[in-house]
Amino acid sequence: MTTDPTGDGELVRMCGVTKTYPGPVQALAGVDLTIRAGEFVAIVGPSGSGKSTLLHLLGTLDEPTTGTVRIAGHDIAALPDRARSALRATTIGFVFQQFHLAAGVPADENVADGLLYAGVPRRQRLREARESLSRVGLAHRLGHRPNELSGGERQRVAIARALLGRPPLLLADEPTGNLDSAAGETILGLLTDLHDTGTTVVVITHDAQIAARLPRRIAVRDGRVVTDTRQER
Ligand code: ADP
Repeated sequence: MTTDPTGDGELVRMCGVTKTYPGPVQALAGVDLTIRAGEFVAIVGPSGSGKSTLLHLLGTLDEPTTGTVRIAGHDIAALPDRARSALRATTIGFVFQQFHLAAGVPADENVADGLLYAGVPRRQRLREARESLSRVGLAHRLGHRPNELSGGERQRVAIARALLGRPPLLLADEPTGNLDSAAGETILGLLTDLHDTGTTVVVITHDAQIAARLPRRIAVRDGRVVTDTRQER
């Protein structure tokens, strides 16, 4: 599956997107949004404003109630499950505030598990996992278990797992939310390096200082984009 079939560098295009959860709760109330390959975007807004819902839709983990979400040119709602999973596997990496690492499992195995469902043989999975851990500066922590790592290192392991297969789009939901400010800086530096080497990065953050430093900031309130600002870095 190609990641830029239209050749216009547009990774995300949302048109008139709404999302209503049972309740009903209108989490998104009409979002139009384009993200081009190579952007570095912060999504900010108060709790409950729809940020995570937006990220889930960007990540093809859910479908809009109305409107269209195109990722790498593909209309998500029109893709059969299998094709959607394939698109997700080749295009998108996820990082969450809770690192979601298996307890008692060494870092390299935790990362390698990210390729389990891709049917990659174990030896190759471990090789790719170790390469990915090197990319995030953890070549010296391959055999460490989560309880032997700092919070910042755990998040780097989670980022290494998200980077398997070198997805062009990295989505992060409050990746520094559980970290002290020094560790948060390291994670921001890592995301900046990934952006500098061509990865498109979209980060939800509550941290106004982090958001202020990113080239593009999208503010969400009551399920709508209220401001979308760009700045030179
Ligand atoms: P944020 O990430 O900005 O905190 P969310 O996208 O998580 O916002 O939530 C937006 C709104 O949708 C909130 O009112 C939340 O309670 C509601 N919501 C989120 N997920 C669900 C769900 N699975 N079922 C019902 N309501 C939900």
